[in-house]
Amino acid sequence: MDLLERYEGVAGKEVVEHLRQLSMPLQGKRVVHVNSTREGGGVAELLAKIVPMMNALGIDTSWEVIRGSQSFFECTKGFHNSLQGNRVIISQKAIDEYERINRENANELKKTLEEADFVFIHDPQPAALIKHFPNRKGKWIWRCHIDCSRPYRPVWKYLKEIVSGFDASIFSTAQFVQSLPHPQYIIAPSIDPLSEKNMELPSEEIESVKKRFGIRDDIPMILQVSRYDRFKDPVGVIEAYRLARRIVPLQLVLAGGGATDDPEGDTVLKEVRQAANDDPDIHILVLPPDAHRTINALQRAADIVLQKSIKEGFGLTVTEAMWKSKPVIGGDTGGIRLQVIDHYTGFRVRTPEGAALRIRYLLHAEEKRREMGERAKRFVRENFLLTRHLREYLSLMIAIFHELKDRVDLSLMNCSN
Ligand code: UDP
Repeated sequence: MDLLERYEGVAGKEVVEHLRQLSMPLQGKRVVHVNSTREGGGVAELLAKIVPMMNALGIDTSWEVIRGSQSFFECTKGFHNSLQGNRVIISQKAIDEYERINRENANELKKTLEEADFVFIHDPQPAALIKHFPNRKGKWIWRCHIDCSRPYRPVWKYLKEIVSGFDASIFSTAQFVQSLPHPQYIIAPSIDPLSEKNMELPSEEIESVKKRFGIRDDIPMILQVSRYDRFKDPVGVIEAYRLARRIVPLQLVLAGGGATDDPEGDTVLKEVRQAANDDPDIHILVLPPDAHRTINALQRAADIVLQKSIKEGFGLTVTEAMWKSKPVIGGDTGGIRLQVIDHYTGFRVRTPEGAALRIRYLLHAEEKRREMGERAKRFVRENFLLTRHLREYLSLMIAIFHELKDRVDLSLMNCSN
């Protein structure tokens, strides 16, 4: 069975047939995706699935990862934090390093990028590559995965000038759209239901993962899976756990790992350990980047999944949990709002107190928990599977190829696949 046929079983034969039809005008076109890490974080997770699928559809697609220095990644993490609203002062020295690394990578990738019909540049790290391709023939698209609903203006002013050179940009929700001199597309990310992260697992495997980490069977378990990043608010999750635990017995699992383009992980992990204060019912796990089955098992083992982010571009961890029929208590922000429909697929919260209230409620109301979980899974099936995401990418490429102007909203929210 080829890669595409495998999706017929999950998404439906006609959905896959539709993808084949849409890809016809794009046969043989060259597409290059560029980002800054091969593993860790949502962008790498997405590209690992999108790239093979595009190739299976007859589109010649590759994935390039730029190389950078420690100070380059400190600068780009500063960009990330400031696009998500923090006041971050970026020095001229840091900007010079950002531009130098992009220049170096542009030289290395010269041939590949010059020959491409479409170049997708993910996030700010490789955005300045575009400066080195003044005579490019292909279409260049900036794909922003960050919650930039309220960027810190001085930093955005600098990045906006670079991004303005692209032919189009993509954001995950309408709230992130900026004033830019080119068409902006709204495309939500997706999960791959057949991947190790999301496939069904035998119950013995789930049990053995619980045992490996000393997770108890006799009390409920709540879980947050995230890089150790302050925007994910792991310390707020610990506070919520403590408040809820005054009323109901409970254990908390925080599962995370690093991404090579995120230099702040160790510092945040220390803060989390300090906040946990050796509580034996808080399990802080640092997992390798390929621990997909382990994360899958933890998500399936959890009674409730939290994603208490303060800012969130989309939150694949939310989608992953919902696909496993878990109600999610998510921060009322960014891409989480697309997924957690309050009181329907989960609850949206703003504070640890709010999260604690919802944890207690859901743990007491087993039937409600089950109903919400079922709706959550259906919602993902209808809106956030890889097949829908690909359909939108293909439509976008066709639209850009035909130079359609203005804003095009390709999201088919609430429409059945
Ligand atoms: N993830 C992982 N290991 C970890 C932490 C996260 O594999 O230790 C995965 C997680 O399952 C999800 C992605 O990384 O697929 C994180 O994507 P999300 O959009 O939630 O957040 P980002 O890290 O991109 O801000």
